[in-house]
Amino acid sequence: FFELDGLTKRFGGLVAVDDLSLSVDRGEIVGLIGPNGSGKSTVFNCTMSRYTVSDGSIHFDGDEITDLKTHEVVENGLARVSQESNPIDAMTVGANIKLFTLPNSVTSIRGGASDDEIFNYAARLDLEDKLHEQPDELPHADVRRLEVAKALATDPEMMLLDEPFAGMNQQEIDGLVEKFEELRDAGMTMIVVDHNMGGLMRLVDRVVVIHNGTKIAAGDPEAIAENDQVRRAYLGSS
Ligand code: ATP
Ligand code: MG
Repeated sequence: FFELDGLTKRFGGLVAVDDLSLSVDRGEIVGLIGPNGSGKSTVFNCTMSRYTVSDGSIHFDGDEITDLKTHEVVENGLARVSQESNPIDAMTVGANIKLFTLPNSVTSIRGGASDDEIFNYAARLDLEDKLHEQPDELPHADVRRLEVAKALATDPEMMLLDEPFAGMNQQEIDGLVEKFEELRDAGMTMIVVDHNMGGLMRLVDRVVVIHNGTKIAAGDPEAIAENDQVRRAYLGSS
């Protein structure tokens, strides 16, 4: 369903992603882990065409998407939640979500969704009671949920989630894991990057571990948790 084939991204002399191949089946949740600076966010930035790819290819749902523009990647059904939240604080939660809905088919203006549709995107993250609040009035965990709701508003078939659990307490992580499980049950395919192993390992079907931009291990969560090479990669990083 989703394939990286020999993906490579260089920044000058630095090879941030090095000949990485990875495939994800429809409906699967794959965890992508690795120490700081191992290239996880760069993989997402290449997939979303935020960065041009140095080498290799990216396929999604049968089409090559390597050299598409970002909006074309989104229209193909991929959405990403960035590591940093960037809501517009001067607008309500509902208006922030609306901004991300795809163009109205008649007027071609972005943000074509009805209030009912906005309510439904928000409700999938339990934010329906906060539609009229502003993001800077919300706790951190709700701001992160808003980022997920914004990504959902593009009606993706697959989501790339970059550290969705960061900065959350255990209860907030548990609540968000539940929301992702509901999305999975509705057919969503996901790649999840996180340093929170508790939340991530519980959610994912399979884990891919990268270090210095290269895959060093892959397997089910239990096997990865016990993998010595993976432990060494983490110990060796700052
Ligand atoms: P973290 O867990 O800290 O988020 P990461 O695995 O997401 O780390 P990346 O952000 O993908 O790591 O960075 C991989 C490497 O690429 C790092 O050495 C980083 O400094 C470098 N890098 C990323 N983006 C750029 C950029 N735009 N220009 C130059 N170097 C970059
Ligand atoms: Mg990152």
